Amino acid sequence: MTQIIKINENDIKNQDIEKLKKCAESLKKGNLVIFPTETVYGIGASALDEKAAKKIFIAKGRPNDNPLIVHVSSIQMINDICYDINNIEQKIIDTFFPGPITLILKRKNIIPDYVTASLDTVGIRMPENKIAQKLIELANIPVAAPSANISGKPSGTLIDDIIDEFDTKVDYIIDGGISKIGVESTVVKVIDNVVNILRPGKISP
Ligand code: AMP
Ligand code: MG
Repeated sequence: MTQIIKINENDIKNQDIEKLKKCAESLKKGNLVIFPTETVYGIGASALDEKAAKKIFIAKGRPNDNPLIVHVSSIQMINDICYDINNIEQKIIDTFFPGPITLILKRKNIIPDYVTASLDTVGIRMPENKIAQKLIELANIPVAAPSANISGKPSGTLIDDIIDEFDTKVDYIIDGGISKIGVESTVVKVIDNVVNILRPGKISP
């Protein structure tokens, strides 16, 4: 059964996080949790657990060759799963994290092949939304999360649409209100010291 819970950013400020702790536990156990971010809602699973990541592809009807973006809540978490971060990549992190940008970095083997569609890189994003940050921090694991919509449909930003599409398919849906930005993150990759935009998004060239 899917549990739908309402949380707002003030609850986080006031340390009212009991409900969020349950969601974090669920992620750790390998279940799916839908959570708000400033761009769009994400359908999340442990990025360290291949079986959990597979559940995302099944729930969305997402093709296996489409890599997932991995969400983190700290710089330490980035270093746990990526290596060889160069000066330009570091500058992107320092300037835009947390925020609506995804940076492609070299992946350590701790991230299963399934998450990245077997690429040797992984897309990393640190959301600015306080509910998302706290959820990842409490779970204490990187969270793989594409947009919360059935593959091919518009990215999920409205809770009613998300409930229609994912009720019974996930463990928790966290209703954090409407997505502030409503547009996806900009995906960037540094190739030969040049920043390439792989997918346009909120952050302009
Ligand atoms: P979304 O479906 O919104 O979660 O966005 C995922 C998109 O990020 C993918 O469709 C790719 O365009 C991009 N992406 C994720 N990981 C990688 C990667 N390792 N290399 C290149 N692009 C990636
Ligand atoms: Mg999407």
